[in-house]
Amino acid sequence: MARIYLSPPDVGPPERAALLAAFDEGWIAPVGPDLAAFEAEVAAVAGVEHAVALSSGSAALHLALLIAGVGPGDRVLVPTLTFAATANVVTYVGAEPVFVDVTADRWTIDPSLVASELDAARAAGAPYAAVIPVDLYGQCADYAALDDALAGHEGVVMIEDAAEALGATVGGRPAGGFGRAGAFSFNGNKLITTSGGGMLVSHDAALIERARYLATQAREPARHYEHTAIGFNYRMSNLLAALGRAQLRGLDAKVARRRALRRRYAEALGDLPGVTWMPEAPDGTPTNWLTVLTLDPDEAAADRDQVIDHLEAHDVEARPAWKPMHLQPVFAPCRHVGGEVAAQIFERGVCLPSGSSLTDADQDRVIELVRQVLDQP
Ligand SMILES: *Cc1c(COP(=O)(O)O)cnc(C)c1O
Repeated sequence: MARIYLSPPDVGPPERAALLAAFDEGWIAPVGPDLAAFEAEVAAVAGVEHAVALSSGSAALHLALLIAGVGPGDRVLVPTLTFAATANVVTYVGAEPVFVDVTADRWTIDPSLVASELDAARAAGAPYAAVIPVDLYGQCADYAALDDALAGHEGVVMIEDAAEALGATVGGRPAGGFGRAGAFSFNGNKLITTSGGGMLVSHDAALIERARYLATQAREPARHYEHTAIGFNYRMSNLLAALGRAQLRGLDAKVARRRALRRRYAEALGDLPGVTWMPEAPDGTPTNWLTVLTLDPDEAAADRDQVIDHLEAHDVEARPAWKPMHLQPVFAPCRHVGGEVAAQIFERGVCLPSGSSLTDADQDRVIELVRQVLDQP
């Protein structure tokens, strides 16, 4: 039996055809018609007007912070429960992340902690520069409450880390358009992939033009190579944009499949003692990028590592939930605000295979293995 992966790329003949068509038409490097089309198509999904395709989601977040003017001496609020890239980019611009706990009902940044931090920092004369909510495992942060928290703090820029949330909605609006800019990732494990890539989206045309300029080595429009700013080599190639367009046509089906996998896991394993699931807020539709179960140590027959070890012994990849940033050695000196919600999710959470190419038969195999460890008196 073949190994089952957590979230592998879901590609097929349409992607192969799109890639080869771009190749055969000579649109290999660096620009070409697929790039502009991919940008327009992703912008439409995110409900924004402007987008620039980049080499990664991390690059998108980095440029968003730079363009917002965040730099040395600044502090940025980041949820502690996230992938390291969200915090790493803060350090790229010389600023300092401050880690905020998440809410138990959504697993995204706690708006009441954001509000108290913003108020206290302003009162102390050292306001925050930015906040980066993360749409965790494809569930949007509570933007209605965050807007309230940010009201009266006009200098604080919100940048949305929507890397896991392409196709999600909250309050009837799609992920990506809530902040001054939003970042998507097309890494190999995300909802759609360009093998590696990302996109920065925004309602602000000038912001996206600035990002496009910085991402192409900050070349001035001159015949010779003229530079007035430090640039980056961050743009996506046309070949990968062609792959991304083919993937994007399947986005709705891929999200529907991930959501169906979550429902089926919950139905098949819901009777097990001590097993609960990442909560879904009633005001939105997440992508269910990963299905995460949590184990109550007083009731469940096994702990996180026993479940993961058993799956691994049968060639099935599962992982703990993100290890909170405030518990990472590299961020040990950084401030942490709030309680232990994220730490408890890390202790108890197991991410199950959730790829949109997972077959029912493969999911049955995973379900059977989970039952073997957790269906015990
Ligand atoms: C994947 C991911 C990123 C980074 O995207 P890359 O394309 O891998 O650079 C950032 N934030 C979160 C929450 C992610 O899951």
